[in-house]
Amino acid sequence: MEKAVHLTGMAKAELESFVEGLGEPAYRGRQLFGALQRRRLRTFDEMTDLPKPLRARLAETATASTLTVESRFVAEDGTRRYLMKTRDGLPVETVFIPEERRDTICFSSQSGCPLQCDFCLTAKLGLLRTLDAGEMVEQIVVALNDAYGVGRQAPRGTNLVAMGAGEPFLAFDPLMKALRVMADPDGLHIVPNRVTVSTAGVVPKIRELARTPDRPHLAISLAAPTDELRDRLMPINKRWPLEELLAACREFEESLRAGERFTFEYVMLDGVNDSDAQARQLANLLNRHRLRAKVNLIPHNPADELPYRPSTEERVESFKAILESKGVHAFVRRPRGRDIYAACGQLAARRVSNVNAPALHQLS
Ligand code: SAH
Repeated sequence: MEKAVHLTGMAKAELESFVEGLGEPAYRGRQLFGALQRRRLRTFDEMTDLPKPLRARLAETATASTLTVESRFVAEDGTRRYLMKTRDGLPVETVFIPEERRDTICFSSQSGCPLQCDFCLTAKLGLLRTLDAGEMVEQIVVALNDAYGVGRQAPRGTNLVAMGAGEPFLAFDPLMKALRVMADPDGLHIVPNRVTVSTAGVVPKIRELARTPDRPHLAISLAAPTDELRDRLMPINKRWPLEELLAACREFEESLRAGERFTFEYVMLDGVNDSDAQARQLANLLNRHRLRAKVNLIPHNPADELPYRPSTEERVESFKAILESKGVHAFVRRPRGRDIYAACGQLAARRVSNVNAPALHQLS
């Protein structure tokens, strides 16, 4: 039986109208929202505060969960990767990253990805489909329930990053919708200020985000300091080359709140984009556009299918030192969950042996 309406991606007001359409009072919609988002329930049966006949009606016309968890992989460093499937059988991956001060959930905006970045394993899948808002919210619900227990609050708060599979700015509308739903204080209550969206450089959407009130933070994947190299590594550069990209970043910078910064991500590929000369080019480029963004240097996470190796530690340090000497703040991002294919650029619906994983419980 095809269940049409997915309730997990709906805002409170939408659920109110939805239940009114079933002849129920609006407050039942608010109750339903609390059950889905605050209590993070994924079946109507568990929503025992709703009258049984209503639960039965809901089960006939709607669904509270469309993703099924196929596998969970647990890394030595505690990172967890969830491999899920959509209703139409497509892979969706989500990563939970425990950290000292707060935990981070990295979610996917698309199944696969249409951008053919040469260093990224997700590219090998191609685009399967853009996810809808409910499928994005559900990823967070699954990860939170697994990490803390169903409905339990995250002890130190949760940050979200739209840095999983896919290009979030090609999923702009459902992404923004998901962020609005998740911000609701009666639900997950994860505000945009706790969310970072990463783009490979979809220029019109960078400009649109700059004009959006209550927006998430922005990260831009750069990977090269010249068009010549970036064209090769990230074909999206042919559509929106560096000058256009950085002009949009400049506009974004003007919209920043006090103390807020945005980030460039720079994957470090041995012998390709990691020389001292390239560090100087990068610093000059950012300084010329008067960008005070910080740069995250990400050592490449290798895979057999990818023709690159990570830069050596000495290279990364030297690159970083040059950026800093020219006034560009740079940080090195430590890889997380590499052993289970959960690190940046490794999401490709991989199955790995799962020795660290305790029993899978309460997931689907
Ligand atoms: N499509 C968006 C969201 C993905 S974020 C974007 O490109 O920004 C994933 C980040 O990991 C990007 O910064 C990407 O450049 C980086 N990345 C991709 N493949 C990688 C790899 N194999 N090793 C390290 N980082 C990688």
